[in-house]
Amino acid sequence: MAMKPFLALTFALLLSLPTSAQDEVVHLRDYDVSGLNEGLVANRLTCDLHFHLTKKGHVKWATVVERLPELRRIFEPAGVQLRVASARLIEIPAAWHSLKPHRGDPPAKEATTFYGKYGASSRLAPATERVFRGVIGKEGPGAVSSVHFVSIRKVDTGWWERGSDGAWRYETAGTSACSFPPYMFADRIPARLRGVITLSSGSAASRTLAHELGHKLINVSHEGVGRDPQGEQWGPDDLMIYGRGTRIPAGAEGRFQRERLQKSPFLYRTVAGERRFNPPYKEGGHYWDPIYAGLWAEEPPKRERARVQQGMADRLPSDAEPDHASPRGGPR
Ligand SMILES: [Zn+2]
Repeated sequence: MAMKPFLALTFALLLSLPTSAQDEVVHLRDYDVSGLNEGLVANRLTCDLHFHLTKKGHVKWATVVERLPELRRIFEPAGVQLRVASARLIEIPAAWHSLKPHRGDPPAKEATTFYGKYGASSRLAPATERVFRGVIGKEGPGAVSSVHFVSIRKVDTGWWERGSDGAWRYETAGTSACSFPPYMFADRIPARLRGVITLSSGSAASRTLAHELGHKLINVSHEGVGRDPQGEQWGPDDLMIYGRGTRIPAGAEGRFQRERLQKSPFLYRTVAGERRFNPPYKEGGHYWDPIYAGLWAEEPPKRERARVQQGMADRLPSDAEPDHASPRGGPR
């Protein structure tokens, strides 16, 4: 029986509609990464990196390959090696190339520490979450336990600032890279999106890549030797401060950055051919998560810690999905 033209058209339209964000991603090519991991050593702390470069994004694969040796050198003294697990070129809808800033509540009045102020409520804008879900995919390799660099043309970030009238205002600005770190998002971000770092500048300097990896893996903001965390600060030495430094300092003096890095649930060791990940976060990965016991530079006032713990429990309902369960108890 022949379909009426109208029905046939409707049917065709329905068939062509993407069923999920993932379907809106067109895979163009894989880059060959086989020669990039030859120097890796078994039984050393390792982080898997996936690169999702986009046709209209600014970052070129050749640039990444060129920056890789220096990027690796930055993490070497801390005993951490970087493995390029995959790299691909994709095409994403044009609208995905402009991401709205994440949102959070204004800092609590009583909060006195930096991480107490900013660690309790940040979450992705729904549109951003959809883009990341589309790019990372559901079953993609290492979705839950790896870092995913995603090239997006324009990514805005947001933060609260207090005006002279005492009222909090939400400020936004563009970023060259954004790391969506656990100390801000805890597990208010879906598990398989926790590794996302966006890259918006074509230069993709080794130091920028390392700095963003630092936010994710060391799980700190902008801080260093003799410097308390701040939204923005500059200095000559430390990786986690704006500038040219690449040092990842250790001990109390270094705010335990090196030790925190080595605890990161994104890291694993290969023992007898099997990957053994560091233990996962116990409280979603906020700055004072118990996996860092003794490795934080300041004790939070009790109420402040309670607030970030509470924020951790205040997760998105949509997160009650299988992607939170990691098969072998690996990091989330
Ligand atoms: Zn930064």
